Amino acid sequence: MDKFETKVKVMKAPPPRKRSFWEDSYLPEIIRGLSITAHHFWANMAYHMKRVLGMHPKERQAITYQYPEERRPLSTRVRSLHRLTKREDGTPRCVACMMCETICPARCIYITGAEHPDPNIEKHPVSFDIDLGVCVFCGLCVEACPEDAIRMDTGIFEFAASSREGMIYHIKDLLR
Ligand code: SF4
Ligand code: SF4
Repeated sequence: MDKFETKVKVMKAPPPRKRSFWEDSYLPEIIRGLSITAHHFWANMAYHMKRVLGMHPKERQAITYQYPEERRPLSTRVRSLHRLTKREDGTPRCVACMMCETICPARCIYITGAEHPDPNIEKHPVSFDIDLGVCVFCGLCVEACPEDAIRMDTGIFEFAASSREGMIYHIKDLLR
């Protein structure tokens, strides 16, 4: 045998364990699975009935939220529909610096800026559109804004539209 040759020890697989009659029939496991399901069903039904009867109005247990009548409380950090913030005189805080448009990874912000009538403010947005059909709700536009002019704290999630154009929100929608 060559000195570099190594012996390979062939490991034999252990013989398969013999299953009992009951294991082969699956019956005990089926009964066990059904009893777990039944336990959850009746427990949830009991919680639900208690809640319906007003015995534990605050106890949620496994009861789901009855959407849309009942809404899940939102986290303070949740990112929802965008809005443009306003100055005291009602004009947008946005100075059309294009930071949000530049950072947006989905390229779904379109801004047209113009000179502001107030000489202390350089620019203002003539148009500010966000295509929500393309937006990925990353929140980078909010992070990038130096003026706190755009926020995603409206708590609005229901903005479905029947056309792609309907998903484009214009400045008047964002200021509302
Ligand atoms: S949330 Fe993200 S994807 Fe949506 S507009 Fe802002 S930067 Fe763009
Ligand atoms: S980053 Fe802020 S100030 Fe700049 S264009 Fe966007 S919303 Fe306006």
